[in-house]
Amino acid sequence: MSHPPSPPIAPQPGIMDIALYEAGSSTLGARSDVLKLSSNENPFGASDKAREAAVRATHAMHRYPPTDHARLRAAIAEVHGLDPDRIICGVGSDEIIHFLCQAYAGPGTEVLFTQHGFSMYRISALAAGATPVEAPERERTTDIDALIAAAGPATRLIFVANPNNPTGTMVPLAELERLAAAVPQAILVIDAAYAEYVGGDYDGGAELAGRLPNVVMTRTFSKLYGLGGMRVGWGYGPRAVIDVLNRVRGPFNLSNVALDTAEAAVRDRAHADHSRSENARLRAWLAAALADRGVPSDPSHANFILARFADVQTAEACDAALKADGIIVRKVGGYGLPHCLRITIGDEASCRRVAHVVGQFMARQAGRDTP
Ligand SMILES: *Cc1c(COP(=O)(O)O)cnc(C)c1O
Repeated sequence: MSHPPSPPIAPQPGIMDIALYEAGSSTLGARSDVLKLSSNENPFGASDKAREAAVRATHAMHRYPPTDHARLRAAIAEVHGLDPDRIICGVGSDEIIHFLCQAYAGPGTEVLFTQHGFSMYRISALAAGATPVEAPERERTTDIDALIAAAGPATRLIFVANPNNPTGTMVPLAELERLAAAVPQAILVIDAAYAEYVGGDYDGGAELAGRLPNVVMTRTFSKLYGLGGMRVGWGYGPRAVIDVLNRVRGPFNLSNVALDTAEAAVRDRAHADHSRSENARLRAWLAAALADRGVPSDPSHANFILARFADVQTAEACDAALKADGIIVRKVGGYGLPHCLRITIGDEASCRRVAHVVGQFMARQAGRDTP
């Protein structure tokens, strides 16, 4: 028996406007000596203690994980001096971003973020049926006045990554507090995925999220802790907001392995400190080395730098030169920065390899430009 063709079932409005997330590539044909500097991963990997915890946790994989994440929340709270009842854990901080959009945005509402903001904000806003709104940045830096000007009565969420990806720049917490006060109809989400790399007394917005009714901070184990493949992130905010987010969270969203691994990772302060200090040292070295070779970058507070070229053509030619040498960096045309390349800070040998290849490329460029 044959059926007449049925009309396609249309998804909710907004869904077909989502452009698929582009992850940093990791292969170059069959090459085996590829250096992947395209996804802001920790070159030193995860802590040994985290890897041991992961292996131990596999013995319990026939058991459902706890739904309350109590032990991981307690460990995070202890390390950061926070109230564990105001922490929510997710499958990467991407899932926390998703919960926020699902719970607070929807048709007829607006989700605001910055011109060069992280691409998940737009994706999650559209998935919730909300309208994404972009505010301009000033010289690749978050512009608080532009965000305030772009906010309106329909604004429900404002996402600011601080430091931002892919620019590496950041704004003072006092500026973020000013934004939260100016737009009380919206939740300001401080995406602090790179907070661990900032050092000093920067708390990623934890104090603001603890004190103000409309500020939430998101954090991740994917960057400094080297657990990108394990998918663990968390959020901190007002009790009422965390209660809302827990209602849309799947009860078993994090596996036993993910929970135990993240707990061991956050407790290993030596590995975290080593990763932070090596990153700071090598980031300064690479930024200076590239600047010496004619490639400037803004002061970065994260584990990457945004190398800036004279034009799009030069950036693409440099990307090709890096690829020819087995080095994958991130093209950021999708972030409105086609004349830039985002380069993750690797270990010392990796940074030297990048500086060498970029130096040779720039020398060839100079030779071509001089008559
Ligand atoms: C990497 C990153 C995240 C974290 O993603 P996970 O889902 O936790 O892996 C969040 N925000 C920004 C700006 C990032 O660069």
